[in-house]
Amino acid sequence: MSLDARDAIWHQAVNTRDPSFDGVFFVAITSTRIYCRPVCPSRLARQENRRFFETREAAEAAGYRACLRCRPELKLGETPLDKVPRLAQRAVAQISGGALNGQSVQALALELGMSDRHLRRALEREVGASPYSLALAQRLRAATDLLAATRHSITHVAFASGFQSLRRFNAAFRQHFQMSPTEWRQRRTRE
Ligand SMILES: [Zn+2]
Repeated sequence: MSLDARDAIWHQAVNTRDPSFDGVFFVAITSTRIYCRPVCPSRLARQENRRFFETREAAEAAGYRACLRCRPELKLGETPLDKVPRLAQRAVAQISGGALNGQSVQALALELGMSDRHLRRALEREVGASPYSLALAQRLRAATDLLAATRHSITHVAFASGFQSLRRFNAAFRQHFQMSPTEWRQRRTRE
């Protein structure tokens, strides 16, 4: 691969803060004399002001100082930035377990040691979804499990899977599956 082709890929990695390139290279900014990891959350520098280095030593030898936000001089997994994906994964696991049924996003965020806003941003960045859409997916999953495995009434299924009202359950179900819960169960039974 030519250097130009490599640079094009690395610019793209910086532009998207692609975590798969974290540790592969470092990006130095000529205007600030600072070097960063490709995942640095700081404002993006213009392409013409970027210089790439394969090692932190090379960036430092060229006179660049480590960024205080992404801490490129530390080992991967040891910086505050690395905790964001871990917290987001924990939040996803909790929401998938029903943590937002009867609990606010704010309360869940507090439990995980971060602010409501921080949690929303971490989830958006890590899994591209809001706490609400993750919780909805979890409730619909729980509902289809109950519809398939039990003879419980639709109302019972709605509340048991975490919905706050039958109306909301029916609306969400129809939007997702393009049929009512009753129809879904009938088809399932026929199959
Ligand atoms: Zn940085």
